[in-house]
Amino acid sequence: MPDKSTSSEVVASGASPSAEVAAEAVASAPARKIYPIVKYGDPILEKPTATVKTFDAELEQLAENMFASMYAAQGVGLAAPQIGLSLRLSVIDVTVGKNPEAKIVIANPEIIHAEGEVREEEGCLSIPGFRGYVMRPQFVTVRAQNVKGETFEIRGENLLARAFCHEIDHLNGVLFLQHLSMLKRDLIKRKIKKLKKQGEW
Ligand SMILES: [Zn+2]
Repeated sequence: MPDKSTSSEVVASGASPSAEVAAEAVASAPARKIYPIVKYGDPILEKPTATVKTFDAELEQLAENMFASMYAAQGVGLAAPQIGLSLRLSVIDVTVGKNPEAKIVIANPEIIHAEGEVREEEGCLSIPGFRGYVMRPQFVTVRAQNVKGETFEIRGENLLARAFCHEIDHLNGVLFLQHLSMLKRDLIKRKIKKLKKQGEW
């Protein structure tokens, strides 16, 4: 992360990696579909998702398209409901495309262990322009399936742990707003309502 931001999805402003990432994508990968990101207010974001049952080439392609969409939006995590699909699938890359080995696909993930607490500011691609402090575990261990359907376990610390929690919340229909104080949450909801009225949301 380039600065103090530890948002699980929204990369802080400043030097933008997007042009660089886009150029790399054009050079090395087949054409990817960039999905528009579903915004807060769409009921799909607040519904639990369906288990991934079919692990085929189509799912692999979907995951790659989700990475491309996430990079285009400069996020470090993206869950299927955020592209309008109620499916228990998320992609995460806390390096925002800088390290191909950091790409993580989690299908049907569960947190099997959590430890410690860190309070940090968090944002969400579906709630652009708003951030809030959320307490998350410092370490989490996730059990999930990869795009081939193979079960694996992965441990994350700090930003990665936060990303796992944030993305798995999405798959359960939970947004980071629900972890904020009622006062802060209502303030953000009121502002979004106003933006909607103005046709800016
Ligand atoms: Zn989010």
